[in-house]
Amino acid sequence: MDLIFPRCCEACDRSLVGNEESICTSCRISLPRIERESIHTDSLKYKFVNTPEVLSVQAFLLFTKKGKVQNLLHALKYRGNQDVGILLGYIFGQEMMAGQTLPNAELIISVPLHKRKLSKRGYNQSDLLAEGFSKATGIPWTGTVLIRNRYTTTQTGKNKIERQENVMGVFEVNGKVKQKSVIIIDDVLTTGATLEACVEALKIAGCEEFHIVTIAVAQH
Ligand SMILES: [Zn+2]
Repeated sequence: MDLIFPRCCEACDRSLVGNEESICTSCRISLPRIERESIHTDSLKYKFVNTPEVLSVQAFLLFTKKGKVQNLLHALKYRGNQDVGILLGYIFGQEMMAGQTLPNAELIISVPLHKRKLSKRGYNQSDLLAEGFSKATGIPWTGTVLIRNRYTTTQTGKNKIERQENVMGVFEVNGKVKQKSVIIIDDVLTTGATLEACVEALKIAGCEEFHIVTIAVAQH
């Protein structure tokens, strides 16, 4: 099959060999981990300074324009490679387990897409990340507790205040989260406005403790 459809690494475009899947071994090792990129994790936590119920914020990779992480996220979001999402979630979960940085939580909740966007893409990339992360950590995940009840315009090009206004009241909770400690998982952390809106909705439903996990951080 490789002769007809040569499989390439979604990060560097080199041909995959042996049992490599979606990401080559070299990229898997060298992808720019946040802790190697001298980004202080406190700076991630600071994005949630107004939400003290957010106990920890962890991100896996540094997103740079035209870099390997962008290639991976494009494969996941625009080229339909769902395996990349499961794999990235799985690797991050594994590394957290190995580094003993896995938050103490009972449930993983993915950030939902609006149903219009979901039917256009066919899947929610955050669900795939949650699935992989859950597989590695053993913490159950759900993609149905949070509901996005309003279609929002893109957050790109908006500042934090504009982003907060854009996503205010967008999420609703449908499920039992009372007194729970949860991990909310998403693909990219920018200002944190969308994740903060998720936290606010879950807080109203009685959820008490939050940990944020994202696959990438975009610095801006
Ligand atoms: Zn590669």
